[in-house]
Amino acid sequence: MSPSVEHMTSPPPVHRYEGRTPILESNSPALQFRVYAKCSTTKARASKMALPHFDAETPMFMPVGTMGTMKGLTTKQLEDLDCHVILGNTYHLGNRPGPELLEKVGGLHEFMNWPRGLLTDSGGFQMVSLLRLAKITEEGVEFRNPHDDSLMMLTPEMSIALQNSIGADIIMQLDDVVSSLTTGSRVEEAMLRSIRWLDRCIAAHKHPDRQNLFPIVQGGLDIGLRTRSALALAERNAPGYAIGGLSGGEAKDQFWRMVSLSTDILPENKPRYCMGVGYAEDLVVCSALGVDMYDCVFPTRTARFGNALTFTGSISLKSGKYAGDFRPIDEDCPCATCRNYTRAYLHGVVTKENVGCHLVSVHNIAFQMRLMKGIREAILRDEYPRFVRRFMQRRFGGTVPQWIVNALQSVNIDLTVPDEHGYSAQPIEADFKKSPDSDE
Ligand SMILES: [Zn+2]
Repeated sequence: MSPSVEHMTSPPPVHRYEGRTPILESNSPALQFRVYAKCSTTKARASKMALPHFDAETPMFMPVGTMGTMKGLTTKQLEDLDCHVILGNTYHLGNRPGPELLEKVGGLHEFMNWPRGLLTDSGGFQMVSLLRLAKITEEGVEFRNPHDDSLMMLTPEMSIALQNSIGADIIMQLDDVVSSLTTGSRVEEAMLRSIRWLDRCIAAHKHPDRQNLFPIVQGGLDIGLRTRSALALAERNAPGYAIGGLSGGEAKDQFWRMVSLSTDILPENKPRYCMGVGYAEDLVVCSALGVDMYDCVFPTRTARFGNALTFTGSISLKSGKYAGDFRPIDEDCPCATCRNYTRAYLHGVVTKENVGCHLVSVHNIAFQMRLMKGIREAILRDEYPRFVRRFMQRRFGGTVPQWIVNALQSVNIDLTVPDEHGYSAQPIEADFKKSPDSDE
């Protein structure tokens, strides 16, 4: 192991937030955002976000739960893994346990016994993606109830009423979702309708004193439309903002440009949340572009297929070559799975037994949390460019996807020029260099 890699796994002590003066701050009724450090090279920043239920540190990754429980993980485990904010799915929660029961028990925090931050989505995305019969009108999203085939409508007002019952710290506007691959007038129509729906959401929101409504930047892959969307949203003076409509199969070189354009326009003193992003390299790059929050089903979904995340890529534990491998997934990982189980044991249970999915999920969430902590601490030390280069070296070696090279060049990190350790990388035309296991 080279000294540089050693440095990444055991960084020197960090100056914490205590005793620091915020560089930027915003005070909304239910959210105080304080930026404590800004990278002197990139657009990265390290901040604290005080929510009604928890003081979260950003940049942060928020795991996605379904039905009020993480697939295979208890809320106690999520707390032990130091998750600051988790996601609840409004569509599922609206069906079961339902808004009446949730209000009766005092919201989802009480219902699922989760004392920290919660974020719910509008429910619209799930309807559009799960239900093929969804139709968008000015009134809302029309769909067929899969249970009794009746016609139902999700309006901005209903989405907010549901999310008010659930009681999450952060709630999302209903937006008119179009695929990031859609082009033409439909993209503009959806962007403009999303702004009109935002104003209806703001008017319908009953608890601005204890729940934060985040608008969502839309506009597809069109620079002009995204700019107009971000400017219109910034005028609403929201407690925080989301960047939506991306991570839908568009070219990564377009993805990062849309993210960067959005962070350039959105207010600097408010949190920025890039929706649906969870691959390690995307988290590292988007943090350099000034994003503070992320969510993705990827770490737990890939665990169900027996894939464990590491700094050198993903390990497919199903592979026969792990049958006699008595090392943990990652020797440097402090998670309960790595402390107690070998790759050989996991090979025997993944994709066959629930416990396998559970154990790999614990590790994968732990990996995301370690990565984000590393990002935050590097920004606080003003060593983020060095962290980025070490990360890319470990993850990709000498050939890094072109889009990453381009994105980092836009924030003054040039991977093609050797650093003090002599590391440099050549760009290659690929989104990912490594498939699971190619590094093992
Ligand atoms: Zn682990």
